Amino acid sequence: MPVHPADAHATIQVRGARQNNLRNVSLDLPKRRLTVFTGVSGSGKSSLVFGTIAAESRRLIDETYTAFLQSFMPSTARPDVDELRNLSAAIVLDQERMGANARSTVGTATDAFTMLRIVYSRLGEPHVGTSSAFSFNTPDGMCPRCEGLGEVSDIAVDRLLDRTLSLNGGAITVPGFAVGSWYWRVIAESGLFDADKPLADYTDGEWDALLHRPAEKRKVDGHTLTYEGLIPKVRRTYLGKDRDTMKPHLRAFVDHAVVFATCSECGGSRLNAAARSAVIGGVSIADCARMQISDLAGFVASIEDASVAPLLAGLRELLGALVEIGLGYLSLDRPTLTLSGGESQRVKMVRHLGSSLTDVTYVFDEPTVGLHPHDIRRMNDLLLRLRDKGNTVLVVEHKPEVIEIADHVVDLGPGAGTDGGEICFTGDVAGLRASGTLTGRHLGHRAGLRAAVREPRGWIPIRGADRHNLQKVDVDVPEGVLTVVTGVAGSGKSSLVHGYLADREDVVVADQSPVRGSRRSNPATYTGLLGPVRNAFAKANGVKPALFSANSEGACPECNGIGLIYTDLAMMAGVATVCETCEGRRFTAKVLTYTLDGKNIGEVLDMPVREAHAFFGTGQAHAILSRLLDVGLGYVRLGQPLTTLSGGERQRLKLAIHMAEKARTYVLDEPTTGLHLADVDQLLALLDRLVDDGNTVVVIEHHLAVIAHADWLVDIGPGGGHDGGRVVYTGTPARLAAAPSTLTGEHLAAYLG
Ligand code: ADP
Ligand code: ADP
Ligand code: ZN
Ligand code: ZN
Repeated sequence: MPVHPADAHATIQVRGARQNNLRNVSLDLPKRRLTVFTGVSGSGKSSLVFGTIAAESRRLIDETYTAFLQSFMPSTARPDVDELRNLSAAIVLDQERMGANARSTVGTATDAFTMLRIVYSRLGEPHVGTSSAFSFNTPDGMCPRCEGLGEVSDIAVDRLLDRTLSLNGGAITVPGFAVGSWYWRVIAESGLFDADKPLADYTDGEWDALLHRPAEKRKVDGHTLTYEGLIPKVRRTYLGKDRDTMKPHLRAFVDHAVVFATCSECGGSRLNAAARSAVIGGVSIADCARMQISDLAGFVASIEDASVAPLLAGLRELLGALVEIGLGYLSLDRPTLTLSGGESQRVKMVRHLGSSLTDVTYVFDEPTVGLHPHDIRRMNDLLLRLRDKGNTVLVVEHKPEVIEIADHVVDLGPGAGTDGGEICFTGDVAGLRASGTLTGRHLGHRAGLRAAVREPRGWIPIRGADRHNLQKVDVDVPEGVLTVVTGVAGSGKSSLVHGYLADREDVVVADQSPVRGSRRSNPATYTGLLGPVRNAFAKANGVKPALFSANSEGACPECNGIGLIYTDLAMMAGVATVCETCEGRRFTAKVLTYTLDGKNIGEVLDMPVREAHAFFGTGQAHAILSRLLDVGLGYVRLGQPLTTLSGGERQRLKLAIHMAEKARTYVLDEPTTGLHLADVDQLLALLDRLVDDGNTVVVIEHHLAVIAHADWLVDIGPGGGHDGGRVVYTGTPARLAAAPSTLTGEHLAAYLG
């Protein structure tokens, strides 16, 4: 839709934007239109859309709070831009997971459960009272046993002990209880047990004393010590503690030893007996929460009652939107913690579809992540609907299907990092095609089938897979080739791949999940590059390598070598500001006088990978940097905090590390996330190289270029949730495209033309 002349004044005007790599960029964005931002990863799309436009909008909104409230908020730094005119309130819909709250579910996050509670408080039989009587977050409604969590934690005894051994033989496998240790002596020398008897031969009394006896003082050899059964002891020592601050081996123990089981009292529904007993047409609110949303929509449509008609209409609209957005396979009781990034983004989006706000700027980060080509059409409709309600919609996206519906395109580039940051094209899609930019040239580009598929060297059998929605799936995954697992969102791809392939011994999973402790980590620390770099500096200057590490006396005492200061606030995302002491240079002035080929350590950490690769021409550092280049991270700076990397970049970083490990099987989940059409070719070459080196590669993907490039497809479906969970096709892409028997087949055939 061309901008109507009468609307021509209605533009957001950006003047002189210099955030991150942007090169003094100025542009006008039409309001109430759909603008798609394109460009290779690292070209500066996020720096413009999120770092400049959305950040300034948020800052302006924060400024409207009273000085008193502002004193509790992080003082957000003004983005580096000369002027931003005509900005409206921006709502960012990104792929950040929704909070780390175990009490948040799809139902609570969308308000659908809140509406359902009111319906049950009015129409449920017998009447139980107010809507809070149906809330698992209030004492009125929560299950007393699990306190509204739906599950209870328990300790798996067999993970604490080896029953075939005696105490002297090392039967206790809990960290800190090694034979001879203090904790071990308290038990073995308590006088309660024969320390040479295998646990398997213990009497019931001995067994109970070993595991459950409450704390008591005992006198042993004249000493008084406190004996306590292993289970209460482990609970006190390891459970109530913050898992994230534990040492890795303790964390591994806790993850292994604590099992979560569905609460037996409420059956996982989180609700107390009264709330569970009220029914409408024989269906309880707990039944509703468990149902697949597409089924729930049918049930709610069948309820008729004039007294709550407006509420029912609102609930129907909300459930309808969830189905429309491709989330009909979820249930309201699904914890938001378990949603993927793409699912989280779509759940957040639903809240805005029913909103009557207009003139809002909606900002999306790759809304098609996790969507099958079949689902993308629906997503497109929703983006257009937001626009048609009078909003400005800004979308960062790589998929041609979305670029094609744009009213306006902003193409950034030409390259990444310091080679990017410029506007290469603005205008409509036809103009983009004709522009000759990298994006324009790739828009109609079609990757084809491979000339000859590779032959599997063997098969990995999966039998009777029934996790989540999988319907007793039997499938063989070929070894030594590139397999792509396809299917609509919710069909069961992740359940199959993560549940039955990823836990095998030789498997490396490179996913998009956050890296722990990532604030202090950066690509240099995370990949082990810092070691050889420190050694090179030490050798060149005749000093100790430790001087160049972030936790040494050489590091800036104020920021501990991070170069940034983080301010954490309870309810808000933390903010980072450049350290004033070292001005972001990370090290003390003394350390910065040591140089290697004219660069100090701070300058090296500030280099993009590509530049560092040329700088360190040989050796271990060069090898690590080569792998980072191979996975398309040439534009990332060595010292950039991992928290600033996107999910796709994190995944490629993990892949780069694991490539050195000589794994046999690689499992990747949507590795094209964040990749430009031009970068996808490079990814395909990388996957081919892994296979040609003798590895098995299994990829979950929706990108048709990757699907076409596979040796073998495993297509799951036909639909999502209980309409999916079956293998609908296995074989080569060529055979599927020739006789398209599935949704994936139809799209593949159309793509190949
Ligand atoms: P895109 O969204 O196109 O992938 P970005 O805007 O994320 O690109 O990145 C543009 C450049 O800015 C890249 O070189 C990237 O490494 C850098 N960059 C992004 N975020 C930060 C940050 N928080 N601090 C420093 N550099 C950053
Ligand atoms: P895909 O990867 O194809 O999008 P998934 O394997 O994520 O599909 O989901 C398949 C089904 O399993 C869906 O109905 C989904 O809601 C359900 N499911 C997935 N993960 C979980 C989970 N952690 N808890 C409960 N149900 C889940
Ligand atoms: Zn319970
Ligand atoms: Zn500092």
